[in-house]
Amino acid sequence: MPEFRQDWATKEWVIIATERAKRPEDFTKGRETKKTLPEKADKCPFCPGNEDKTPPSFYTIQNNGAWKLRVVQNKFAALQPNLTTQRKKVGKFLKVDGFGVAEVVIETPKHNETIANMPDEDVKNIIVAYRDRYHEIARGQHICLINIFRNHGQKAGTSLEHPHSQIIAIPIVPPHIRDQITQTILSSDTYGTCIYCDIIKEELNQKERVILETEHFASIAPFASRYPFELRIYPKKHSCNFGDISDAGIIDMAYILKATLRKLYIALADPDYNYIIRSGPTDYANVRHYHWYLEILPKLTTTAGFELGTGIFINVTLPEQCAKVLREVKE
Ligand SMILES: [Zn+2]
Ligand SMILES: [Zn+2]
Repeated sequence: MPEFRQDWATKEWVIIATERAKRPEDFTKGRETKKTLPEKADKCPFCPGNEDKTPPSFYTIQNNGAWKLRVVQNKFAALQPNLTTQRKKVGKFLKVDGFGVAEVVIETPKHNETIANMPDEDVKNIIVAYRDRYHEIARGQHICLINIFRNHGQKAGTSLEHPHSQIIAIPIVPPHIRDQITQTILSSDTYGTCIYCDIIKEELNQKERVILETEHFASIAPFASRYPFELRIYPKKHSCNFGDISDAGIIDMAYILKATLRKLYIALADPDYNYIIRSGPTDYANVRHYHWYLEILPKLTTTAGFELGTGIFINVTLPEQCAKVLREVKE
């Protein structure tokens, strides 16, 4: 029987269509196998030796004189930092210059790595870089929202194979994020708690959608998942802002992020995915109602007219089943 499920925080609905239930092998069937990549690619702008093909690094993590990670401006940035945020009018319509920050985190010198297979130390470096850049960018007077994300594979929208993440910071908070935040404020006003803290508690209590739990984090297939194998990594302790992650939290997050992505890599044969760190707006310090998390969205299905028309996603796989499959992944 199909059912509607509601996201407890946003109040958005999804449809879980159990009649069309798919197993992990259904998602890998007929898919082209990813080609094996070389450790170094001559024409890749992110490979060592080709540093002159990118803007200069302004943040580097080094080991024995060689870079392990570097951050550069996005050469093809959609936004630029040297513009204003002054609102302008075109007749009655509103516009603003394309002000913002767009950076690329080149995660490793190795062309053929991916987080699922990286040494833990390298994954830790990525999260350290995210936090350091977050702090630096948040100091910018006009930045409202810092979006840290990773596009893995062509279906997830990446054009470069070399492992990298992106940071794009913008001078506006979009309405759908405001709506999500408003719902968390209403919850907090009514119940006096953070709705995400309540969700984490409930998920850890029910257990069936939990994939991994560590000291600081839990990875979960959300009750109202929009996509098959949609996952979230929640910090267990309340925190509204990713920038507030502690050193111990970084080590733990590196572990759970890699372990969770590795389970996906094995269960679904290296699927394309996006992950996004959903941090509160930069002017939020210690608010009680919002809670940051990392969202993993595998690209296994396509969204169509119904989703676009209603904003209600039809998910063909039970989140409970996804969590079970991932929990049981063997190395
Ligand atoms: Zn490369
Ligand atoms: Zn919370």
